[in-house]
Amino acid sequence: MKEALFLKSVLHEKIWGGTHLKEFGYDLPSDKVGEYWAISAHPHGVSIVKNGTYAQMPLDKLYAEHRELFGNRTESVFPLLTKILDANDWLSVQVHPDDAYGQKHEGELGKTECWYIISAKPGAEIVYGHTAKTRVQLAEMIHAGAWDELLTKVPVKAGEFYHVPSGTMHAIGAGIVILETQQSSDTTYRVYDFDRRDAQGNLRELHIQQSIDVLTIPGDQLPDNKVTVETFDGAELSTLVKSDFFDVFKWVITKNHAFKKIADYTLVSVLDGSGQLDIDGQVVSIKKGDHFILPSPVESWKITGQLEMIASQPK
Ligand code: ZN
Repeated sequence: MKEALFLKSVLHEKIWGGTHLKEFGYDLPSDKVGEYWAISAHPHGVSIVKNGTYAQMPLDKLYAEHRELFGNRTESVFPLLTKILDANDWLSVQVHPDDAYGQKHEGELGKTECWYIISAKPGAEIVYGHTAKTRVQLAEMIHAGAWDELLTKVPVKAGEFYHVPSGTMHAIGAGIVILETQQSSDTTYRVYDFDRRDAQGNLRELHIQQSIDVLTIPGDQLPDNKVTVETFDGAELSTLVKSDFFDVFKWVITKNHAFKKIADYTLVSVLDGSGQLDIDGQVVSIKKGDHFILPSPVESWKITGQLEMIASQPK
């Protein structure tokens, strides 16, 4: 089956959500949409195949029953999850466990994630890392609510990339739209939620002890986020990160580019522009807001047009 698997997916409303995801062509049920789980086999929101041989099949079922499309890999669950997030307000300050802690305490994978900043309003910031040098100091500062001293804030702008390994203190700030590539996990330990209340007047649950257990010490050990760029006649291809869990790339097509498969399968999200995807002479249109998987039988493909895309591959 030499065809791309285009996906339709699930929107999630959040107290910090907004309306920016409309710009990707999605029909929003409210003005508080925070996340589009674009490529997901996670039970909290599974993508469905839109086209071709496997039309209407959920991605988790496809992965379970047609492992040949995914290089006959042995991971028991589809390991990656791609989301677009619209942060109209600060997300909670949070941390995710690694696989060992996640499996032991939550029965699912830990979560390493990474962010490509699609847009950011002037002055937008993220929390990325913290200032505590020891676990004792970390616990003291959390219990004292010394957030201004503890949390490291970083200004961000469109086009930047941040790798967020499990254990990293992090939060996405107001006015930021990101493409997130992550391990397929929904385990979040909330450290601080700005004392916000939801529509029913309730505070959201915090997970202070788990956070103190899993936060990286010292908190300023962060990836260098160094991007390497290769320029071709009709494209510019960047390697954003090669991590233990996934490799992530940015593909900017200015005219066209012929790709050869380098991993068992590839997840692709179109962030801007439009063009054509050509697999052995079968041509389909692609545009901003589309998400698809190039499964294992697809050995090569050509993309034509003016497009900006994020691609990811499992390790
Ligand atoms: Zn997170």
